[in-house]
Amino acid sequence: MIGILGGTFDPVHFGHLRPALEVTEALGLEQLRLIPCRIPPHRRMPVARSEQRATMVERAIAGEPRFVLDRREFFREGPSYSIDTLRSLRGEFGDTVPLCLIMGADAFAGLSSWYEWETLIELAHIVVCQRPGYGVELPDEMRDWAAAHQTDVLADLAARPAGCLWYQPVTALDISATQIRDLLAGGRDARFLLPEAVRDYIHEHGLYGPEAADDTARDDD
Ligand code: ATP
Repeated sequence: MIGILGGTFDPVHFGHLRPALEVTEALGLEQLRLIPCRIPPHRRMPVARSEQRATMVERAIAGEPRFVLDRREFFREGPSYSIDTLRSLRGEFGDTVPLCLIMGADAFAGLSSWYEWETLIELAHIVVCQRPGYGVELPDEMRDWAAAHQTDVLADLAARPAGCLWYQPVTALDISATQIRDLLAGGRDARFLLPEAVRDYIHEHGLYGPEAADDTARDDD
């Protein structure tokens, strides 16, 4: 089974990494691919450039052999739609390997606004991690769909390539990239919210600090 965690990772932090590891262990994933987006479809452009966000992920996951940085979204024009990423992964890994698309409860609550959202589960299982501050209340259009796909039997995920919705309890970490960017923009320290290697990179490259405030939204590399 292969896990997929997409995001802006602007920057990557322990709220991404610890739940990702817990999902990896709970589901017995062979690998978990962290896939930074180039152009997020539903939000403003990231502050750090694509390659900087990827390098921060690379530094964060060094030493965890099951975690793999995947840059495939950088090579596509236009918004980075997850459905295209899943099709690309299917093209690479074939139709039979179980793929698990992992997301936090905040992302899941907005899933019905994603491009071709109902097709996502035909290509992968969807694994939802709780996130502090976000409940499991779903919009009306997702309720029947969620009930039809949810399983409480872990073995279902390994038994087929896609089609299941799984809720994974994880350690609740109330950390967001927004909080980290705000701390740094205010000249404060983000230590212990993210790996030291990522914090060092941020300081080496002058990212997110008060002096970097106008150097934003140029993520067309
Ligand atoms: P921002 O604050 O810039 O919106 P973010 O911290 O939410 O960023 P993203 O890169 O947008 O981070 O998130 C990527 C994925 O990781 C999403 O599926 C999101 O739900 C999940 N995620 C991020 N932070 C947490 C957290 N603290 N706990 C659980 N899931 C998280």
